Amino acid sequence: MRYVSTRGGVDPITFSQAVMMGLATDGGLLLPEAFPQVAQTDLRRWSGMPFPELAVEVMHPYMGSDISLQQLSELVERSYSGFSHPEVTPVVKVGEQYVLELFHGPTAAFKDVALQFLGNLFELLLERSGGHLNILGATSGDTGSAAIYGVRGQQRIDIFILHPHNRVSPIQERQMTTVLDGNVHNIAIEGTFDDGQCIVKELFNDLEFKTEYSLGAVNSINWARILAQVVYYFYAWSRVSDGDTGCKLTFSVPTGNFGDIFAGYVAMRMGLPVERLILATNRNDILSRFVNSGIYQARKVHHTLSPSMDIQISSNFERYLYYLVGEDAGKVRALMEQMRREGMMSIPEALRRQVGELFHAEAVSEEETLEQIATTYREQGYILDPHTAVGVRAAGKFPGTICLATAHPAKFGEAVQRAIGCEAPPPSSLQGLMDRETRCQILAADTQVIKNFIEHKLSERHE
Ligand SMILES: *Cc1c(COP(=O)(O)O)cnc(C)c1O
Repeated sequence: MRYVSTRGGVDPITFSQAVMMGLATDGGLLLPEAFPQVAQTDLRRWSGMPFPELAVEVMHPYMGSDISLQQLSELVERSYSGFSHPEVTPVVKVGEQYVLELFHGPTAAFKDVALQFLGNLFELLLERSGGHLNILGATSGDTGSAAIYGVRGQQRIDIFILHPHNRVSPIQERQMTTVLDGNVHNIAIEGTFDDGQCIVKELFNDLEFKTEYSLGAVNSINWARILAQVVYYFYAWSRVSDGDTGCKLTFSVPTGNFGDIFAGYVAMRMGLPVERLILATNRNDILSRFVNSGIYQARKVHHTLSPSMDIQISSNFERYLYYLVGEDAGKVRALMEQMRREGMMSIPEALRRQVGELFHAEAVSEEETLEQIATTYREQGYILDPHTAVGVRAAGKFPGTICLATAHPAKFGEAVQRAIGCEAPPPSSLQGLMDRETRCQILAADTQVIKNFIEHKLSERHE
């Protein structure tokens, strides 16, 4: 299997190269040249299969000879043995809908499913190449902790995560700063999340620094993250359908960066019987407006009860766009250029109709989110986190939908409290968090200061 860029400027590369490259060098996103096809006999055979075995079956065809079946089994085993539920991503019936619980990993949010795997995959590839990777990222909350947990304790990786000092929730802050492994470096900057992102961008643009320190990113543009997320679509389908290949199912996905829902699209392209994908957004509705109008245009970012979806420019959207325009990299380039120049792009009506045949999109308001948490609790005794509630709300018209639950409700106590008057009991991973020892460096929101800190830390570490 070879990988190409949505913008056509990368000669086909292997799976390992695509994982280490992250963002394509031409500014586009990497994609497999073709989707491996899953036969109906496979779908039947996979029904009832444990998650780790299924993960190997789904992912291995994407790796070619880069990674053996045995190596992949070990990677998968290591990545998911830390999940607190024996099924890893269980499906539970909640009223007329199904809820696919993706929050049983170490940070209680769905990003663990991909980042636990990516961390181990990085380690394997670095062992082979003899290299060392320094991961650098800015977080507004969830991604930072999931990335830290993905690589903590690894020999060939150091991770530097910037978060805005006193501006992430206490739980989110503690999830990061209580990780005391020597390769984890938390930096609280005296500034906002945007300041953090700006600094990270500047450091990545400092090519000398980037090369000397082998800087890497873990944001959702890495193909391996998408791939790890494809697995649970197959898993959920096999649990609900019992392997009946005539059973087409609908998935509802709370969406920000289009990563999770794009994984559902990939599953469908591989042959999973999908009836419909429900794209659920909060007030930050660029994606739902696109599905309903064919116009992709960013507006101001609103802060909502579902902060991990407070995004206006979706980093994975370009991957879907590539397929929509018939895998024509020239057309993608032109549309992205239009986006850059005019702040918007639009697609012809015929294509918009094609989008509408697969996707049903809805933007869910704050009131509706709280109402959904309250209703589901009152009627079913089940507590939804605000992100999951957005997806459940958008699926209202479609009974029998598999709704992706992207975070544990205890992580978003304030919203849950407002909706139902009490908080959800914390999972074991969040218990005692506030009493543990922490380590974090508070620094000025200044690129040079951060750069000096990274250089100093790394020279200390590699003495
Ligand atoms: C990141 C995140 C999302 C959005 O996922 P995308 O892949 O960016 O669309 C939804 N819910 C939670 C809890 C998240 O952390």
